[in-house]
Amino acid sequence: MNSPIIIIGGGASALMLASLLPKQSCIILESNAKLGAKISISGGGKCNITNANMGTEYYLGDEAFISPSLEAFSQKALLKWLERQRLVPVLRKETQYFCKNASSELVDIFLKESKKQKICLNESVESVSKREDIFYVKTSKKTYTTKNLVVASGGLSFPKIGASAIGYEIAEHFGHTLIKRAPALVGFTVQKDQFFFKELSGVSTDVVMTVGREKCAGALLFAHKGLSGPAVLDASLYWEKGSIEIDFLPGFSFKSIAGSKKLISSLLPLPKRVTKAFLLQLRIVDKNYNSLSKDEFERLQSLKEYIFAPAGTFGYSKAEVTKGGVNTNEVERMSMMSHNEEGLYFIGEVLDVTGRLGGYNFQWAFSSAYICWKSIKGKIREIRENKS
Ligand SMILES: Cc1cc2nc3c(=O)[nH]c(=O)nc-3n(C[C@H](O)[C@H](O)[C@H](O)COP(=O)(O)OP(=O)(O)OC[C@H]3O[C@@H](n4cnc5c(N)ncnc54)[C@H](O)[C@@H]3O)c2cc1C
Repeated sequence: MNSPIIIIGGGASALMLASLLPKQSCIILESNAKLGAKISISGGGKCNITNANMGTEYYLGDEAFISPSLEAFSQKALLKWLERQRLVPVLRKETQYFCKNASSELVDIFLKESKKQKICLNESVESVSKREDIFYVKTSKKTYTTKNLVVASGGLSFPKIGASAIGYEIAEHFGHTLIKRAPALVGFTVQKDQFFFKELSGVSTDVVMTVGREKCAGALLFAHKGLSGPAVLDASLYWEKGSIEIDFLPGFSFKSIAGSKKLISSLLPLPKRVTKAFLLQLRIVDKNYNSLSKDEFERLQSLKEYIFAPAGTFGYSKAEVTKGGVNTNEVERMSMMSHNEEGLYFIGEVLDVTGRLGGYNFQWAFSSAYICWKSIKGKIREIRENKS
């Protein structure tokens, strides 16, 4: 039986793999009515494709597993590949590569490239089984057979655009273990002590958040539901439970204002509304800085190491990614093939590899697809030779 490769999912990783594979060598099974739905809404509609600063330090996951993919298909290789497709991303925020006008620039490339493959839309994969060396992929419409099955079904975030647990279910069916999954790159809800944050909704300020050994610098946005903004989203990648330390005054030293007679609120480099809200919480009257008592000064200094214990996160409906997933110890890092099952591959977010904000998750989706392609293309040659 020389059936084409079956790819479950029509998102970022699947589309890169289908674009690299020779024509009519794979079938994409996608539950949505269109391909690349997440790419379309990503990066505020402009898709943050990759980042000039690339390396395993920007990922949560096993460094030894991640690095061969990033080396095989680096951000530079990706940019070259895109350039060949006439897409030259623009650099924003110093290191982040985005589509110039809209994510559709990238989606259109994938639509054009994947035309050469068979695409089945509105077709949801329900289960997979294997007899002898053949996978039976049961969908909402029919059952497909193949010797090579690529699971590219992503994570659990954004269920409204097609996310499902099918990839994890398939992994478990074939004896894989799953690393605990949780919403990541997501905002935090707050406990009673920080309910006053909600009154600051819409205000943003630069902070450094420390979660364990990880530091996340950038903007923190006070939101209606709690805390959001780039620094917070990155912090959510590392947070499991317990508290986070927030420096609300990064780069600022109280020494620089020692002895000042000015009002505290005019000295602190924070939006006025934020300073006033914190002063109220810290039970400090907004007065001349040099008239602070020792005790008040100590309380004010806590703004440099503010302890924040999130109540939880905004959940999968708002999370950009799912951290955790298929245990990478059970997947061959040079091919993405399962150690348990010959012909079964996992690529993209379904694996226990999660990047920080800034284009790292698309880079992982594309790099893991590339290394899988390098390994699987030999098999296609075999299939074709057997056919002829
Ligand atoms: C709002 C938002 C913004 C983001 N912005 C960025 C960004 O700017 N930069 C960045 O690097 N990352 C970003 N991400 C993360 C990025 O989109 C993902 O990490 C990436 O798409 C993962 O690629 P993937 O191929 O593994 O999964 P996906 O792209 O999620 O693709 C999986 C596909 O599988 C399909 N599927 C699921 N279950 C089934 C089933 N049972 N049968 C058939 N098909 C199924 C889904 O419909 C989906 O199309 C963002 C995510 C979100 C939600």
